[in-house]
Amino acid sequence: MAKQETVEHKYVYAFAEGNKDLKELLGGKGANLAEMTNLGLPVPPGFTITTEACKAYLVTGEEPDGLADQIAAHLASLEQAMGKRLGDPEDPLLVSVRSGAKFSMPGMMETVLNVGLNDRSVQGLARQASGADAQTSGGADRFAWDSYRRLIQMFGKTVCEVPGEEFEHALDDAKRAKGTHDDLDLDADDLRGLVDAYKKIFFKHTGREFPQEPREQLDLAIRAVFESWNAERAVLYRRQERIPADLGTAVNVVAMVFGNLGPDSGTGVAFTRDPASGAQGIYGDYLANAQGEDVVAGIRNTVPLQELERLDKKSYDELLGIMARLEGHYRDLCDIEFTIERGKLWMLQTRVGKRTAAAAFVIAGQLVDEGLIDLDEALHRVNGAQLAQLMFPRFRLDHEFQPVAKGIGASPGAASGKVVFTSARAVELAAEGESVILVRRETNPDDLNGMIAAQGILTSRGGKTSHAAVVARGMGKTCVSGADEIEVNVPQRRFVVGGQTVVEGDVVSIDGTTGKVYLGEVPVMPSEVVQYFEGSLDPEHVDNPLVRAVHRIMSHADGRRRLAVRTNADTGADAARARRFGAEGIGLCRTEHMFLGDRRELVERLILARDNTEREAALAALLPLQRADFEEIFREMDGMPVTVRLIDPPLHEFLPPLEQLAVNVAVAQERGEDVAQEEALLAAVRRMHEENPMLGLRGVRLGLVIPGLFAMQVRAIAEAAVTVTRSGAVARPEIMVPLVGAVQELETVRAEAEKIIAEVVGDSGVEVLIGTMIEVPRAALTAGQIAEAAQFFSFGTNDLTQMGWGFSRDDVEGAFFWRYLELGIFGISPFESIDRDGVGRLVRIAAEEGRAARPELKLGVCGEHGGDPESVHFFHEVGLDYVSCSPFRVPVARLEAGRAAVETDGSDSR
Ligand code: PEP
Ligand code: MG
Repeated sequence: MAKQETVEHKYVYAFAEGNKDLKELLGGKGANLAEMTNLGLPVPPGFTITTEACKAYLVTGEEPDGLADQIAAHLASLEQAMGKRLGDPEDPLLVSVRSGAKFSMPGMMETVLNVGLNDRSVQGLARQASGADAQTSGGADRFAWDSYRRLIQMFGKTVCEVPGEEFEHALDDAKRAKGTHDDLDLDADDLRGLVDAYKKIFFKHTGREFPQEPREQLDLAIRAVFESWNAERAVLYRRQERIPADLGTAVNVVAMVFGNLGPDSGTGVAFTRDPASGAQGIYGDYLANAQGEDVVAGIRNTVPLQELERLDKKSYDELLGIMARLEGHYRDLCDIEFTIERGKLWMLQTRVGKRTAAAAFVIAGQLVDEGLIDLDEALHRVNGAQLAQLMFPRFRLDHEFQPVAKGIGASPGAASGKVVFTSARAVELAAEGESVILVRRETNPDDLNGMIAAQGILTSRGGKTSHAAVVARGMGKTCVSGADEIEVNVPQRRFVVGGQTVVEGDVVSIDGTTGKVYLGEVPVMPSEVVQYFEGSLDPEHVDNPLVRAVHRIMSHADGRRRLAVRTNADTGADAARARRFGAEGIGLCRTEHMFLGDRRELVERLILARDNTEREAALAALLPLQRADFEEIFREMDGMPVTVRLIDPPLHEFLPPLEQLAVNVAVAQERGEDVAQEEALLAAVRRMHEENPMLGLRGVRLGLVIPGLFAMQVRAIAEAAVTVTRSGAVARPEIMVPLVGAVQELETVRAEAEKIIAEVVGDSGVEVLIGTMIEVPRAALTAGQIAEAAQFFSFGTNDLTQMGWGFSRDDVEGAFFWRYLELGIFGISPFESIDRDGVGRLVRIAAEEGRAARPELKLGVCGEHGGDPESVHFFHEVGLDYVSCSPFRVPVARLEAGRAAVETDGSDSR
């Protein structure tokens, strides 16, 4: 028998073997470290364990075959490159073990630094750090013991689940004993004592000594990083950011370089442009004599990166050169992490940087100007969710409002709300419908729930790159960080600022653009982007880079998109606003609101009519009112199509609720009053009661059952169109029949409507189309037949989702979707974003079969999905002619329709 050769799966890549396009396999961090290595930039040597190894580990709980040997081989090469051995008692190589998934998940997974230190190698490290210079040996001892205590702390917390506070308390005790608040005042002896205290804590919680064997430390740290993919906060973050759950994380094992070796060392984080505003020029924070996590944790206040020029001009210049090179190479804003070890610059990370919505637009515009990208690419670089954020209001400030503190505008927007100090309280109050501002000294990844629940986040420590800032920007939440005039006291649930005390429940307002903090509620004003859309800011003349960039990119999207964008509007005012926002017609004018208010009385008369005469009188009274409504809308939409949907909800929705009527009748009877009218209404409500009104007498069924109702509406539409057209404007009505499931329903309504239209329109030149909603699954499945009787289809994806899934649209989202989301049955509510596989399939079938039967059939969508970015891409793919959405989402749909058109040409936009 022939010997079978087994080809070993490759789970480990040296940096020199990877590149930036291997994010799926090497994670973002690993792929970019590889890219920088290959660009010849100063990256400490290391290797990456693939996401595939992680996925295999997560399935079995064991490292996959071959992984241990591959790690050993790469470790040996690393040792050779560095001329040091892991854990060598004389001159130890230390490594960091860092997570890195395909999509950045800042602070959500684990990192262990200084792996390779133990009771013996800590001495070797001290000796090596002091070098020949005996003068610095005190500092070197301090550094070595500080590194060791950091390892025990991180390893204990991350790998062995020792509660982090225990280490914090021991550190606080050591500082208290020394009479200081600053870690840097602890000397080598203090830190040696702290190492002993940490080891005891470690033993108490794990029942074992802190592992001294370096390879064991490494293997356990790698496992812990794999497992952190499924940590609760990581799962929550992925759900929030819509990152798939099955990607796994890569693990990067990198030779340690030290920013805490003295004043000529340090560490920093930087952006190649301002990630908040997009303004050109580098932007970052630097912390001398510190390790990387000190910056990100926002524990000590940093200095602006520009200070580095004064501290270490050579490294500063080199850094600037590297940043310019990275921007040119990635053709985008990059963020980087770097460390300077005794005057030598090392690049620890780069990636295309997260940015605010405003910065995304501004930078995309700049990059086009700089010739680095074209306008199609600029469309890839922004998205509808960002545009929606820019349409949020901002504070209206006059002199009455004086800020009480100023921090860093870490994530823009304006937020007011009740102060809370813990994540749990934020979640509680938000669930009661309150707006809350989460106030912390600094946030950490455990605060994620509270950050999601809060309207805004305020911290007293940390820079623009602190945890709070990075996470808030990613979520589009308003955040002010580093407001250090505020003294936060979490246990007592209060903060003090300028002598004033603010307790839990007091209202504050924060401005994430300026960083200002106000007591009380500050009124808000509309965004400039909205003002631009509304036509009150002229992009050619206004000196506002954001407005200009939005204008330019939107114009390009409009030029590229194939989908038209209409709006859902049922008043003249909404129609006018949507038109200013770029709507090219009305895709859904719901007529039910026209039966509310003081017109209810007419509907009651219609329902209670005892004979034809009474019914006709009620309808005749409604006719001119409806006609006036339509005239107003047709005028506003002069020249554009207006789809008017005939009345849809069950008529008893227009009557008072049963209980209320019953009480009214009983009270009136008691008083001996005349209750004939109420009694009749009560009887009607009882008669019309339905167990499942959404599946009852509504939509087209009303038109077939209640004589004259649809006819009155059709007449009002046609008469209004004629009047408007005769006055010189152009009315283009499209009459839409709701809830059709069978072609015969539509045919019946259509036959009656056509007669009325012919009679009203005469030779006025008005053309009225008749079509149907496709919102019942049967309609989608018999679309070929229905198209014979319809000039257009408009997909009512709200009902189609309701009936496709059998989910009551009014109940299920609040009731149990959390469980479905938790189980991953869907990643987002199918009422929010179209379920491509199921409901989407119905849309696809209906579009195809409808068009096959009637090639000129016009196809649109008017359910909520019409304004959802993901869904817009789907409707583009399916080949609809237009989407229709609420006025405020019209610009979002225009942008996404442009992006969808560009994407059809190729690349992935994420
Ligand atoms: C729909 O069902 O998608 C629709 C647009 O109609 P409505 O929401 O009014 O039921
Ligand atoms: Mg509907």
